[in-house]
Amino acid sequence: MSEEGKERSLNFIEEIVENDLKNNRHGGRILTRFPPEPNGYLHIGHAKSICLNFGLAKRYGGGTNLRFDDTNPVTEDTEYVDSIKNDVKWLGFDWVNEYYASDYFDQLYAYAIKLIKDGYAYVDDSTSEEMAALKGTPTVPGKPSPYRDRSVEENLELFEGMAAGKYPEGSRVLRAKIDLNSSNMLMRDPIMYRIKFAHHHRTGDKWKVYPMYDFAHGQSDSIEEITHSICTLEFVAHRELYDWFIEKLGIFPSKQYEFARLNMTYTVMSKRKLLQLVNEKFVSSWDDPRMPTISGMRRRGYTPKAIRDFAERIGIQKRDNLIDVSLLEFFVREDLNRISTRVMAVFEPLKVVITNWPEGKVEVCKLENNPEDPESGHREVNFGKEIFIEASDFMEEPPAKYFRLKPGGMVRLKGAFIIQCDEVVKDAEGKITELRCSYIENSKSGEDVSGLKVKGVIHWVNAQEAAEAEVRLYDRLFKVENPAAEEGDFKDFINENSLQVVKALVEPSLKKATLEDKYQFIRNGYFVLDPDSGEKLIFNKTVGLKDSWKPA
Ligand code: ATP
Ligand code: MG
Repeated sequence: MSEEGKERSLNFIEEIVENDLKNNRHGGRILTRFPPEPNGYLHIGHAKSICLNFGLAKRYGGGTNLRFDDTNPVTEDTEYVDSIKNDVKWLGFDWVNEYYASDYFDQLYAYAIKLIKDGYAYVDDSTSEEMAALKGTPTVPGKPSPYRDRSVEENLELFEGMAAGKYPEGSRVLRAKIDLNSSNMLMRDPIMYRIKFAHHHRTGDKWKVYPMYDFAHGQSDSIEEITHSICTLEFVAHRELYDWFIEKLGIFPSKQYEFARLNMTYTVMSKRKLLQLVNEKFVSSWDDPRMPTISGMRRRGYTPKAIRDFAERIGIQKRDNLIDVSLLEFFVREDLNRISTRVMAVFEPLKVVITNWPEGKVEVCKLENNPEDPESGHREVNFGKEIFIEASDFMEEPPAKYFRLKPGGMVRLKGAFIIQCDEVVKDAEGKITELRCSYIENSKSGEDVSGLKVKGVIHWVNAQEAAEAEVRLYDRLFKVENPAAEEGDFKDFINENSLQVVKALVEPSLKKATLEDKYQFIRNGYFVLDPDSGEKLIFNKTVGLKDSWKPA
């Protein structure tokens, strides 16, 4: 069931879960996990995995562990751990346990010792080149390394020596002894442990050997008694190895299931690539609003509900595909339409003087905060003698059916009066500097008895009270749909015009904007305050009112 409660058919993972529950596998219990490696900020692809793992467990009365897959000391950092927790919470999910694969290092080491003792693992002194040469190809069987038949005693002594830091990095590895003829190359004696003299963000300098992904992930699942371990398709070939380790160790039988990663148009979806964008200053930070990161989307004004609805809508597939970013924007717009406060902001100010307005007079106009939400109420905006409208809402020589302001024409100012343009003032170069207009006295919105019919309604700000704001407008970060699939460096396809900074005059209520408030600048789009905002107001454009984007 979707958030709205609409029925849809079960996806293949839900079918598996329902079947397991029906057969009382694991006593009818479901426990999933979300296992990020803390080597970067989470992106929208992770959001899909989060929604899947947490959503599935929730739907079937189970829970989800948050497990940091921190087995590679070189790339991991506590900053990333904090941002990941923050992002998962912001998306609206709670984990039952917070775990770290590094907490299992002792247990994993003990598992390795057991496999050595049972004759299922050996220490190999071959160089990586030698190993590669012996490995064969999918059609040519591998050849045994000269170290494959070491005795259990020798293997134990060498592995303990590795762990004690007796041997240099790269000099030896621990390998599982499986099947050199397997058509699955991962089963041809995969590496379990390598020597690394690196400082780990949690275990410090205690360990000199670190487990490989394949000898950490499944065992971590098993230690936590995860019932359904869901990962992306590139791990299909790893499943056989996942099952092999669990079987040989005789530990809790977690099972792995795979689904297609989310790829989205006009962006890249890998932490390694996103890190390059940050380090090489193509963007300002991990949470730059152009980034496909959860933190970037939050800063841009996307809502957790929009992201969850998007994840639900795209569902899960067994084949890789590329999702149009417009679909995500559709859900963002849909949610923002529901919740955002309508305000007025003028981007290209053109001064309008109301000639028949008494000097110093202020008239309070009531504007609806959000017509989609009757509870949202009204706010007051002062009308006065001098206002600004958008320069584009006036045309001196308009085409037929132009319903905004034109010489001699009338237009309604949103929430205020009907005005008529009496005179166009220009400077020496002929540029329009000001419009002189008169207002129709009994035409105030809500109490209009003028009997006039005007088709156009335009927005405005009071010149006396408007606040200046910097507005950041964003475009796609890349010029091509799938930069990662192009030949050459993905960074060659960056859109150098993805950020445009403009000035605007905004109504005074925006001086009280907080980072959580969502606004619709009427007729202009959805906007949100940026954390860079201080004395000076800074807004980000979240998305336009309509899908107007077209490929170049
Ligand atoms: P990246 O290549 O961006 O670093 P990753 O897969 O290495 O991604 P992890 O931190 O290892 O990132 O991933 C945590 C979880 O999120 C994994 O279960 C992974 O399968 C899932 N995940 C990562 N990227 C995507 C994606 N694009 N779509 C769906 N799930 C994803
Ligand atoms: Mg990874």
